[in-house]
Amino acid sequence: MLRFPRTTAALAVLLGVAGCNADAPTTGATAADAVAVLPDVQFPELSLQTLQDVTKELSSDAYEGRAPGTKGEEKTIAYLTSQFAAAGLKPGNNGQWTQEVPLVEITAKNATPLRFTGGKAPVTLQYAKDYVAFSYRVQPKTEIKDSDVVFVGYGINAPEKGWNDYTGLDVKGKTVVILVNDPDWQTPETKGEFNGRAMTYYGRWSYKYEEAARQGAAAALIVHDTEPAAYGWNVVESSNTGTQYLAEKKDGGADQTAANGWIQLDKAKELFASAGQDFDKLREAAGKKGFKAVPLNGVKASLSFDNQISKKLSHNIIGILPGKKRPDEYVLYTAHWDHLGRCTPVNGDDICNGAVDNATGTAALVTLAQAYQKAGAPDRSIVFLAVTAEESGLLGSEYYAANPVFPLAQTVGGVNMDALNPNGPAKDIVVVGRGKSQLDAYLEKIAKAAKVTIVDEPTPEKGFYYRSDHFSFAKRGVPFFNFGAGEDLVAGGTDAGKKAAEDYEKNRYHAPGDEYAAIKNWDGMLADLRLYYAAGRMLASTDSWPNWNEGDEFRAARDKSREGK
Ligand SMILES: [Zn+2]
Repeated sequence: MLRFPRTTAALAVLLGVAGCNADAPTTGATAADAVAVLPDVQFPELSLQTLQDVTKELSSDAYEGRAPGTKGEEKTIAYLTSQFAAAGLKPGNNGQWTQEVPLVEITAKNATPLRFTGGKAPVTLQYAKDYVAFSYRVQPKTEIKDSDVVFVGYGINAPEKGWNDYTGLDVKGKTVVILVNDPDWQTPETKGEFNGRAMTYYGRWSYKYEEAARQGAAAALIVHDTEPAAYGWNVVESSNTGTQYLAEKKDGGADQTAANGWIQLDKAKELFASAGQDFDKLREAAGKKGFKAVPLNGVKASLSFDNQISKKLSHNIIGILPGKKRPDEYVLYTAHWDHLGRCTPVNGDDICNGAVDNATGTAALVTLAQAYQKAGAPDRSIVFLAVTAEESGLLGSEYYAANPVFPLAQTVGGVNMDALNPNGPAKDIVVVGRGKSQLDAYLEKIAKAAKVTIVDEPTPEKGFYYRSDHFSFAKRGVPFFNFGAGEDLVAGGTDAGKKAAEDYEKNRYHAPGDEYAAIKNWDGMLADLRLYYAAGRMLASTDSWPNWNEGDEFRAARDKSREGK
């Protein structure tokens, strides 16, 4: 998993949550109506034995930590498909259990300094120290030569907010310089045009590169700033100077910018000064609606580096339980089967077994499949999707969502399971991305039936919503549940919960200590699984199509995909 936030905040607000009333526009229903028409909550019979057996098997040393493209992958595929079949599922990919996911590893080598010339004085940035760059184009060499430079503020094009930093601009072949985060990140509340301090997708670095590519830019450079980035330059440097992992595209990434990168704040100031501009003034202007991009007149950017490329094949694993009444409408359960493989040894153990992360979530797929089989198929089909390469950047889910076996326009929604809770049952659940979609109403009904309290995520500024597999679907319009146990444990309350979370993070998270034997309590996992079942079952029993709330960044994608349906 990419860190799931635990909370101590007691912010339970079950009524009047933004998200219900203005948000059922397809039927014109009110909040109360939207809740009233939801199907009943059904809780399952779950097999603890299955959850334990599958977790134990997948996290055993024989699987070598389940790294993509290794023997551990072969064993995972063989075992999981046999478990899916035994649970009564059918192969999910046109008679096959797997979907091929071609992966590319790309490493920048021999990078030159990044040079800005043509201004009052040349500005030179040293690789790693002052700037980093990499390419999503799978080609042996990347070269930017004398490319015009344009400051595009936050680099956002958000039609639903009437905000476009690229208005009237042609950046083809140019280098765009972009601010990190989104325009209202300094607002203390989580309200505002871009949800205040809560990060929106428009604030993520990945979005900024995607938009720059859509605009035809040759290069996109983000100005690092520790507070709005939420991490220091050391993190930027370590994550961007080594090997980058991509899911291979048919066009080899031809629709991407040639180079993406980050530059240090003080160097950005120098660059702007060389063009006769004041960085601080322009940064302030960029936070206001109607901001117009500013060309750094006369300044040209140049850099080059080689790309070392290697390819390997991995797989998503897919099973389906066909629906009784509307089999061509789909509800997804997703969990990543991969983990880190062999890793830095601790006490001579170099296998990162990934028992909690995410053998438990993968075992949950099998456990849920059995429960559905027992209860009988619902109206809509249930797809059980174990994705690869989450740990390298959500690549398996991204590949599936870009090449869906079942059309996304026919996919109602889903539940993502990434690292179940090993700390025992909790009195609360944390919802990441609460207030974004109509799924909130479903969850409120489930929480009430299960007698658990819903709490908001404690650090929305960190953008956790954009860091797990459900995001690959969300950004294409498919709403996903993303919740899990909070820290207020039935036994010991928040003190015990905090301690347990810290202990896991310190001693087992992404380390060889994340082993089966270290899991002491399975009751919290079963409690979460009950909720995941209830959520999927409701989606599979209703005939409605939940959408993102009015004004949400993903609503347009859903509307477009459901157009004419
Ligand atoms: Zn992980």
